[in-house]
Amino acid sequence: MTHRTESAGERKVASNLPVFYDCASCHAYCCSYTDIPVSASDLRRLARHFAVDVDVAGLRYTKRSTDRKSRVLRHRRDAAFLSTCRFLDADSRRCTIYDARPDACRQYPGGARCGYYDFLAAERRRQGDPALVLAAWPTQT
Ligand code: SF4
Ligand code: SF4
Repeated sequence: MTHRTESAGERKVASNLPVFYDCASCHAYCCSYTDIPVSASDLRRLARHFAVDVDVAGLRYTKRSTDRKSRVLRHRRDAAFLSTCRFLDADSRRCTIYDARPDACRQYPGGARCGYYDFLAAERRRQGDPALVLAAWPTQT
């Protein structure tokens, strides 16, 4: 597996616009979302990355979404967030398939701000702890 220097969240859309979050100082909360979608083209990319058939990639790396209507990334246990995408490095908090990650990962958070990071930064300031990790966030679904 490729181990990139970018943190999981540094998968932002290339842009010259400023952003108001720092994925390098976040524990990749967004990689703990329950249903991270995997489209057919995402699955083909994953299959190429691991040099396996698409069917094998589907079974090995994805599962049914919560509503059972689509495929999403498989999870594994995580000390910080209980569960994260299986491709998140538990120690470095970086994506281990950066070049093969699904489009949803490339596009998130889709704007200049990340709601979780806003909350995290505010709590870090309030608690005077720049390394604070917030394992739960009230608006997670
Ligand atoms: S939750 Fe936000 S700040 Fe953290 S890695 Fe994801 S996009 Fe970056
Ligand atoms: S594929 Fe990478 S960026 Fe996407 S959720 Fe998994 S670890 Fe995070």
